[in-house]
Amino acid sequence: MLYNSTENNKEVVSAAQAIAQGISKDGGLFVPQELPKYTEETFKSLLGLSYNERAKIVFSDFLTDFTEEEIADCVDKAYTVEKFGSECPAPLVAKKYNGNEINIMELWHGPTCAFKDMALQILPHFLTKSLKKTYDGKTAVILVATSGDTGKAALEGFKDVDHTKMIVFYPEDGVSPMQKRQMNTQKGSNVNVCAIKGNFDDAQTGVKKIFTTDEIVELLHKNDMLFSSANSINWGRLLPQIVYYISAYCDLVNSKKINMGDKINIVVPTGNFGNILAAYYAYCMGMPVNKFICASNQNNVLTDFINTGVYDKNRQFYATASPSMDILVSSNLERLLYKFSGNNDELVAKWMNQLKTEGKYEVTDEVKKEITSKFFGGFCDDTNTKATIKELFDEEKYLCDTHTSVAINVYNQYVEKTGDKTPVVIASTASPYKFSHSVLEAVAPEAICDDEFTMVDELNKITGAEVPKPIAELKNLEVRFNNVTDADKMPEYVKNTLGI
Ligand SMILES: *Cc1c(COP(=O)(O)O)cnc(C)c1O
Repeated sequence: MLYNSTENNKEVVSAAQAIAQGISKDGGLFVPQELPKYTEETFKSLLGLSYNERAKIVFSDFLTDFTEEEIADCVDKAYTVEKFGSECPAPLVAKKYNGNEINIMELWHGPTCAFKDMALQILPHFLTKSLKKTYDGKTAVILVATSGDTGKAALEGFKDVDHTKMIVFYPEDGVSPMQKRQMNTQKGSNVNVCAIKGNFDDAQTGVKKIFTTDEIVELLHKNDMLFSSANSINWGRLLPQIVYYISAYCDLVNSKKINMGDKINIVVPTGNFGNILAAYYAYCMGMPVNKFICASNQNNVLTDFINTGVYDKNRQFYATASPSMDILVSSNLERLLYKFSGNNDELVAKWMNQLKTEGKYEVTDEVKKEITSKFFGGFCDDTNTKATIKELFDEEKYLCDTHTSVAINVYNQYVEKTGDKTPVVIASTASPYKFSHSVLEAVAPEAICDDEFTMVDELNKITGAEVPKPIAELKNLEVRFNNVTDADKMPEYVKNTLGI
């Protein structure tokens, strides 16, 4: 299977190249030229398998330049019982909300308690094998600018992975105390963490500049290193997300909630559009889906886009209780536009250029029709996010986080509007303990205090929901990093850390 850029059909690469490179030279994203087709027979053959076995089969259909042994090695290193707590890293939990049965797919049992672990635990293994195929002998240097969650998930994924080094920069005053502690206590001999004096944009700009500074690129080259990227547009992050939708479909058949061949609805709390796009790819491969319900918070640029065909990022930015979805440019949407425009690379390049220069573009009527036939867009503000957490907890004694709550709320809006009661899978993207402050505001506002760990304990006392081990252990971990640097000293910091 080969991959090409969404902004230039003629830029064709292997899977290993797509993963090692991250983004195409023309700025486009790599997409498979053709998707594997799964029939009912294929799905039947997956029913009796474990999550890891299902994953190996899906990966081997996409990573055709990897051997079976290489893929097995990646999967078995990534989704272990030690890291995910069981042999099923993405369990389905059936609950009721407002009279409707909802199947909650818990994607947060990994080491950092958020769904990004599902991809970032395996990406480093895909990447080292891809590098071996494309730039043998080199060590990949990954620089990350983070506003919190991605940095920690990337650190956990890359720690002690051979032939990789990682440096994470975060804004000194721009992450939560819990996130800071998670990163500063990070283990691993190949990782490093540094706060910068500045905001997230300064960190991001700094990293981008280093990537393209000739002097540093040369120095890396001399030392058998090269820059690579772990961000959410890398194909190696999208692919692992397709697996859990296919696996969830099998689980629903196994538990007799649906019959083989029945359609399901899928609801995803959306930011960068990666997670919901993976569900859409699973549908294109043959998984029966009726509707994709794209749930946004107050930053509802995607809701407007789905309803009007106009993408307009010129609007107010809100800091919400679901911060991982506080995004105005959803990068992975580009891949959907490519598909819906009939692989029209020129059109996609034009829209992306308009987004860059005017902050806005409008898709064609045909693309609008494609979008509304398969997608429903809705959003939910913080007040309703908290109300939904409380209602679900009161009804079912089930505690969900703020991002998942946005999805459940929007799903409820969808059912009220359409009456469509197709069986549903709702992606749950974080543990409620990752956002203890907001979740406490929803269920027990009187227990709010200044200390994150006290709030975790309070939440546990009030709700009885189990505290995930990585959060419980955090209190006692030794702080390894307390580096702070000026944003303009980031290049020096990188050189010193790498010893080049
Ligand atoms: C990243 C993230 C999302 C958004 O996922 P996208 O793939 O960017 O749409 C939702 N919830 C949580 C908790 C996240 O960390």
